[in-house]
Amino acid sequence: MRIAVCIKQVPETKSVKMDPETRTVIRQGVQSIINPLDLYAVEAALELKERYGAQVTAVSMGPPQAVSALKEAVAMGIDEAVLVSDRAFAGSDTWATSHILAGALKKLGAFDLILCGERATDGDTGQVGPETAAALDLPVITYVNHIHELRDGILKVSRLVEGGTEKLSMRLPGVLTVVKEIGEPRLPTFRGKLKAKGLEIPTFTLETLQLDKNRIGLKGSPTRVVKIFQPEIVRSCEMLPAETEEQTVKAVDSMLAFLEDKAV
Ligand SMILES: Cc1cc2nc3c(=O)[nH]c(=O)nc-3n(C[C@H](O)[C@H](O)[C@H](O)COP(=O)(O)OP(=O)(O)OC[C@H]3O[C@@H](n4cnc5c(N)ncnc54)[C@H](O)[C@@H]3O)c2cc1C
Repeated sequence: MRIAVCIKQVPETKSVKMDPETRTVIRQGVQSIINPLDLYAVEAALELKERYGAQVTAVSMGPPQAVSALKEAVAMGIDEAVLVSDRAFAGSDTWATSHILAGALKKLGAFDLILCGERATDGDTGQVGPETAAALDLPVITYVNHIHELRDGILKVSRLVEGGTEKLSMRLPGVLTVVKEIGEPRLPTFRGKLKAKGLEIPTFTLETLQLDKNRIGLKGSPTRVVKIFQPEIVRSCEMLPAETEEQTVKAVDSMLAFLEDKAV
């Protein structure tokens, strides 16, 4: 079986700062890490590899420094990794990103299963998994919290839905986006770190993928970030008299009415 894991490098959440002038995320000098939710996709791939045998490939689209996220995945046990990077890809929205990722996955040959995280902690749309599946014309199951079994090319999984779980079967090839409950990510091993250190990670560029320039970057992005702002938090305090039982009941009543009004 061939499994691909899509991983994104994101800024370390604690070190994210906004530029007050441009209101955009300051990426220069900010420590980058593997998207924490993608570690669960890596873990799911490695568990499947242990259970059924598989060759696992990690794919990341991003700037050259995204290689460190790929190396971290290799140190955890991923077999090989590919960076997808080109200036022409800059400015891509989720639609264009998915088109580029799909191009890279096609270039790597047929995969039985493609695993993605639930969402990236910076862009936070959760769109890239399903959109990549659409670009590859593959079925997708989102929010997968358990992989039950793989038998005769059919994968049985559970996915989280509001108030419970849903059991689904999918004939492979297909795409899953996984949630934290899928399994605690393992730590990189010493042997894995050594392998990652010496590994040459190939880069797929626009030339490698031969994609239509109208489908990538800003030109190929049908969505636009119209405004980025930090919501203003207004805090006010009102003292409610509660010296007698009657006043206490009234105070609780008005507090509940306030919360209901704010739909908390
Ligand atoms: C108009 C517009 C312009 C933008 N311009 C830029 C820009 O110039 N530079 C920039 O850095 N970003 C830019 N972005 C953000 C960029 O589109 C997103 O970072 C990217 O598409 C991923 O979306 P997301 O973060 O919401 O991922 P999600 O959809 O939340 O991620 C879900 C899962 O998909 C996979 N995944 C997501 N992204 C990648 C990736 N790159 N490689 C591999 N796997 C991935 C991971 O498994 C992840 O867990 C722009 C967005 C818009 C809308």
